[in-house]
Amino acid sequence: MFEKSTWIRLPRNVVVGHGVLDDTVAAVEELHLAGDPLVVTSPTPAEVAGDRVVEAFADAGLDPQVVRIEEATFGAVEDVIEVAADGDVGYLVGVGGGKVIDVTKMAAEDVDKGFVSVPTAASHDGIVSARASIPEGDTRHSVAAEPPLAVVADTEILADAPWELTTAGCADIISNFTAVRDWELAHRLKNVEYHEYAGALSRMTAEMLVENADSIRPELEESAWIVTKALVSSGVAMSIAGSSRPASGAEHLFSHQLDRIAPNPTYHGHQVGVGSIMTEYLHSGPKGQWRDIRDALASIDAPTTADELGLDSETVIEALTTAHEIRDRYTILGDGMSEEAAREAARVTGVI
Ligand SMILES: [Zn+2]
Repeated sequence: MFEKSTWIRLPRNVVVGHGVLDDTVAAVEELHLAGDPLVVTSPTPAEVAGDRVVEAFADAGLDPQVVRIEEATFGAVEDVIEVAADGDVGYLVGVGGGKVIDVTKMAAEDVDKGFVSVPTAASHDGIVSARASIPEGDTRHSVAAEPPLAVVADTEILADAPWELTTAGCADIISNFTAVRDWELAHRLKNVEYHEYAGALSRMTAEMLVENADSIRPELEESAWIVTKALVSSGVAMSIAGSSRPASGAEHLFSHQLDRIAPNPTYHGHQVGVGSIMTEYLHSGPKGQWRDIRDALASIDAPTTADELGLDSETVIEALTTAHEIRDRYTILGDGMSEEAAREAARVTGVI
C-alpha cells in the first residue's frame, strides 16, 4: 500500500525589488485576509519602513494596530500576543530586522493567525522561513512556525541597512554548503529523511552567492537584491523539506552554542560562517573545500577567524566540543569532538 504524503507550505506572494514597500498593501490584499493588520516593528525599522506601512494600511481603509518592541524577548512576544489576540486583528505584519520578524512569527503562531514578513535587513534566512528562535536566559527557544503568507523585501531599504547585517545574511547562505552535507550524512547514517530537490536548491543557492561574491559590495542595491533572492530560495528549500535541515547543520549548532557561552555573541550569520569553515574541514579533510568557504566569506568582508568574531580560542574550542548537545540533530559532530581534534580543526583552518 502506498502511504507517502507531503504538505508543502510556501509564502503566497514574494515581492522583492526597488521601492516595493509601496506594494505591501497590494501584496496583502491579494491574500483575501479578513480583519485588520497588527504591525509589529521596532524603533529604527519604524522610521525607515514601519510608519509608512501603517499609513498605507490606514489609507486603504483598514484600522491597523501597532506594537513597537525594543528587544527580541519572550516578554516582547507576550506583548504582541496580547494585542494579536484581539478579535479585530486578522493577521500580523512584521516590519524590521530578523528579531522583529522572529517575534512576529512566534506571536502569530501562538494566536493561530497568519503573518507577513517585511524585512528591513537581509541578515538571516529567518525572514522567509518557518523557523523562529528567541533567546531565553542562556538558551535559545526555537519553534517551528508557519512560513510567512507574503514577503515584501524592498532592496532600497535593505541596501541602507548596516553592512554587517548584509554580510551576515550572505554568510548564513554560504553555510548551506555544510548544512546540506550534514543532512546527507544524517540520511546515510541515521536514515533521516532527505529531500533531493530541497537539498539541491539549498546548495545551488549557496553556489550562486559565492559566484556573485564580487558584486556584493556596501551601498550597492544590487547586493541587497542578490542576498535577498538567496535568502528567499533558502527559505523555500526549508519549506519544501518541512525542516530547517537544508540550511542548518553543525555550523548552526556551533553558533547556537556560542550564543550561550560567549561573553559577547555576535551576528548569527557571522558565527555560522566561521563554523562552516571548520565543519567543512571535518567533512572533507585538509584538502577539502574549507578554503573556498573561507575565501568566499573573506571576499564579502565576513569574519573568518575567532579574532574577527571577537572571541578567544578557548570559547571556540568549548563551543565545538559541546555543540552536539544543543539539540537532537545528527551532524558531522556526531556524539562530540575531543578537545584535541577540535583544536586541530580550528588551528588548521586558521580560525584560532
Ligand atoms: Zn541561519
